[in-house]
Amino acid sequence: MLIILRPDASSSDRDRVVALIGSLGYTAQTIAGGQRDAVAVVGNDGRVDAARFSALPGVDEVIQITRPWRMVAREWRPEPTVVALPGGRSIGGPEVLVIAGPCSVESEAQIFATARAVQAAGAGALRAGAFKPRTSPYAFQGLGRAGLELLAAVRRETGLLIVTEAMDEEGLEQVASVADIVQIGARNMQNYALLKRAGRSGKPVLLKRGMSASLADLLLSAEYVLSEGNPDVILCERGIRGADPSTRNLLDLSAIPAVKSLSHLPILADPSHGTGKRALVPAMARAAVAAGADGLLIEVHAHPDEALSDGAQSLYPEQFALLMEELRGIAAVVGRRIP
Ligand code: PEP
Ligand code: MN
Repeated sequence: MLIILRPDASSSDRDRVVALIGSLGYTAQTIAGGQRDAVAVVGNDGRVDAARFSALPGVDEVIQITRPWRMVAREWRPEPTVVALPGGRSIGGPEVLVIAGPCSVESEAQIFATARAVQAAGAGALRAGAFKPRTSPYAFQGLGRAGLELLAAVRRETGLLIVTEAMDEEGLEQVASVADIVQIGARNMQNYALLKRAGRSGKPVLLKRGMSASLADLLLSAEYVLSEGNPDVILCERGIRGADPSTRNLLDLSAIPAVKSLSHLPILADPSHGTGKRALVPAMARAAVAAGADGLLIEVHAHPDEALSDGAQSLYPEQFALLMEELRGIAAVVGRRIP
């Protein structure tokens, strides 16, 4: 951290900055400039709070040099994190894992029909919500515990891995008892109590980017999970709020290489919530694999026109099967594979 002093800062302003750095346990190094001086905090491990300095008399600006996150940083761990999953699957290695399924578990017939369709097309995991974070309290909220039981039955009968969302601390244990990967949704990305609990769940965590979260916010949320002892965090770009209502969200594909340069954690793309429109999903899914995504989250429904949530962005099974073929071709071009 570099604390830049104003040209009119007095020597006592400078001495106060130097003393505060010392009292925090770091070494201050004063750098004399032509017009203004600066004081560097030497030994900062990312924990020094810039706000302690920014409003002191004589301080012009504070420049953060050390990143505020540690455990998620690629600087800290250069090799990529590969999250091992049951059945020999993984996320973050050469394989691109395609996770597909309906937005919500709606009924036994619906979830089994959809699971079989995505499995036949080659999806590696089924994703469906039993607990749904809906924007309106009057919208379908999910089947809850009954939905989890249906997911457990799907897992037993098909062997598909299960990804499903935990919305709160009380529900997390129930979800973790069924899920192979626990999803934390966009609306909960900064629910720090939930993140900490997920860090102690013993299950990989799929952490979706919040609707207006910066990549720094996303990485700091992941840091919460890692700092509780769970290294298995999978990030997910699902689109951020844009200005144009033509798409539901603005799918930020540049986040994929950007996160990869900052962090060793794997990152998936969710072109379904990212666009909100079925017709746009295949192109964005292909683009995400080309951009280096470690996997995809795609909404597929056996009968999208009857879906209780997110039908408009859910692919028909045939569309999904065709997309899987295309994705295999793209994965091969970028040195990855989709089994
Ligand atoms: C979902 O995955 O179904 C969902 C609600 O997504 P998000 O949290 O990204 O809005
Ligand atoms: Mn959905």
